[in-house]
Amino acid sequence: MKAVLIIADGLGGRPSDLDGKTCLEAAHTPNLDELARRGALGLLDPIGPGIRPGSDTAHLSLLGYDPYRSYTGRGVFECLGMEMDVKPGDVCFRANFATVEETPEGLLLIDRRAGRIESGQSDLAAALSAIELSNGVKVEFKASTQHRGALLLRGEGLSRHVSETDPHKTGTLVPEARALVDDPGAARTAAAMNEFIRKSYEILKDHPVNRARIEAGKPPANVVLLRGASDLPHLKPIAEQYGVRGAVVAGAALYRGVAVAGGMTRIDAPGATGGVDTDLVSKARTALKALESFDYVFIHVKGTDNKGHDRDAEGKKSFIERIDAELIGTLMGGLDWKEAHLAFTGDHTTPIDYGDHSAEPVPILYAGPNVRTDAATEFGERAAGRGGLGRWSGRALPILLNYNNWAPKFGS
Ligand code: ZN
Ligand code: ZN
Repeated sequence: MKAVLIIADGLGGRPSDLDGKTCLEAAHTPNLDELARRGALGLLDPIGPGIRPGSDTAHLSLLGYDPYRSYTGRGVFECLGMEMDVKPGDVCFRANFATVEETPEGLLLIDRRAGRIESGQSDLAAALSAIELSNGVKVEFKASTQHRGALLLRGEGLSRHVSETDPHKTGTLVPEARALVDDPGAARTAAAMNEFIRKSYEILKDHPVNRARIEAGKPPANVVLLRGASDLPHLKPIAEQYGVRGAVVAGAALYRGVAVAGGMTRIDAPGATGGVDTDLVSKARTALKALESFDYVFIHVKGTDNKGHDRDAEGKKSFIERIDAELIGTLMGGLDWKEAHLAFTGDHTTPIDYGDHSAEPVPILYAGPNVRTDAATEFGERAAGRGGLGRWSGRALPILLNYNNWAPKFGS
């Protein structure tokens, strides 16, 4: 048997999105409605009722992990999603290229995203990876999309209990990292971060990529801001729990990272961007191809959440319509429905009027031969509230794998 889990980031909405309907309810989704008729619906609290999820903690929970026990921070997932070889004891960060101005008081933040830099980042990353720190701590830096990147520090006795160096506000000084606990490892890590940031500025300010940016009137990417300090979480691999092998198809590094941390194999779809311009047909075809050699595939799409943060209701609705036509449509045609189960859900609600994640549960649907069908005829938040599966927290993947008879028995 085969299984497919699809998570549309920030899928859920509120009636205030579009004249009394959520973006999902307002969207024309004939394929999801057809799957709703063939399957069953429920409401899913990604972490728990009333808990506003981050995308990282929500994904841990949906894959079957307890985020309260396993979550160490976001940086490690960014590093894993960038194919960095994270080892126990390493400390990982989510990084931003930013623009600063040198002042007598320190580095003054001008642009947190260096004008959303679009080219030259890998040259800058290579220069940063060559930085040598005085206390023997090793540095690895990788650029991701636009201004985003990931930093890994490796050395004896490092600690993730350090403050971030992103002031989140332009016109303020970039703060020094400091230890958050009274521990020599945390002090050593903060010292390494501060030396890295000083050296990153020295190297980046005169880098040819930045000289060209300044000449073109663009803000230079002349410093790196660090946040999300974390180390490798203890996650029992999904393959060890269920005896089946999974692959992840995701354009954004964070989601690949969470899946890789759970033991899935990364497979890249041509044209997958982690944004609304992504190639959804390509992602579906890549997943179908992966199912020839893997037991299940997890597909992540990000555009729904981006449009929620942008407070763009029409944009979110039309991206959901593209998911239905291009991703779900291609999968429906390519799966052998006698021996496949599919789950479709979100990792949280991102209402248009709020522009951020909120705690309402998300709709979820399961379809396939072993699903007890309910009376649902369409897919949406309120239809899911009337669904036959009821309401529960997390564990979207374990429930899917159980339909394929892969769940281990608890007790004898
Ligand atoms: Zn999310
Ligand atoms: Zn979000």
